[in-house]
Amino acid sequence: MALSEFALIERYFRSCGAQRTDVALGVGDDAALLRVPAGCELVAATDTLVAGVHFPQDSPADSIGHRSLAVNLSDLAAMGARPAWALLALTLPQADEAWLGEFATGLGELARSHEVALVGGDTTRGPLCVTVQLLGFVPAGAALTRSGARAGDVLFVSGTCGDAAAGLAIEQRRLTGPPEVRSWLRERFLRPAPRVALGEQLRGFASACIDVSDGLLADAGKLASASHVGVELSYSEVPLSEPLAALLGERRARELALTGGDDYELCFAVPPHNIARLLAQLPPQDWRYTRIGALRAAPGASVVGDGTVMEFSHSGYEHFS
Ligand code: ADP
Ligand code: MG
Repeated sequence: MALSEFALIERYFRSCGAQRTDVALGVGDDAALLRVPAGCELVAATDTLVAGVHFPQDSPADSIGHRSLAVNLSDLAAMGARPAWALLALTLPQADEAWLGEFATGLGELARSHEVALVGGDTTRGPLCVTVQLLGFVPAGAALTRSGARAGDVLFVSGTCGDAAAGLAIEQRRLTGPPEVRSWLRERFLRPAPRVALGEQLRGFASACIDVSDGLLADAGKLASASHVGVELSYSEVPLSEPLAALLGERRARELALTGGDDYELCFAVPPHNIARLLAQLPPQDWRYTRIGALRAAPGASVVGDGTVMEFSHSGYEHFS
């Protein structure tokens, strides 16, 4: 690379994230030294984004930076954890400074907005691939997991579903529509807003939680099977955004909301005895979540509409091809 690796790290990544007092040693040594608060457990997650697999080859660089952290923030949100420190393993075909500047801006803005420090990483040459490792913490024993739900618990999801899958289809020119609808849905794919604050608030209310990355039906099914129960979703309760419903019509929008990926919303189960307190302390209109179904003893995941069980066999990828 024309730019030395040292100069690249100094210029784009040393001060990219938040400054935190619990970073004893950050970028520049062989490893970072971090102070986990007393009484807390360390929470660790990592996710890789591969060009052409997890984002289109020509995606805007700031979106790639944003999403590489957002997908990990969403995993920590689903654990009820507070994110704190990130590491970035970046593989680049060349040191394109315009690209690096935008990438670091997208990553850095999201990191600072969640008070996440970038404390280290690795930089290599090769086909574009971004791995972020995110560390955070949670009071010992208080983490949310996928496996705590029981039959009879009520299931909720934050935000609206299906928007990011439509946004990706628009980005790939498999779907079109009016300009303002297109740009709103594209944003939902390019710059998802992980529900970190909601995840932390759900400690003490939710019995189980998962983030929606593969599609609402699939991820609700994963939560249920990890909890050794089944799940029944109500077709008409699945939350849709106005732009998605306007573009696709209600039937296709609901199908995409159930099966499309990349939403990074939280899907969580709440025991009946916690519901009144949940609704009072986290008003749904402020925290933007919707009741969509319930856990049941019978295994599997099904969608019920108009009293009949509906089948969904498509994955989000197949919708517009
Ligand atoms: P080493 O050879 O010891 O792995 P490197 O030259 O890979 O050292 O990294 C030097 C320092 O820069 C380390 O502290 C490392 O964590 C940090 N670093 C490397 N690449 C990145 C990156 N893309 N973002 C943030 N920090 C990085
Ligand atoms: Mg290294």
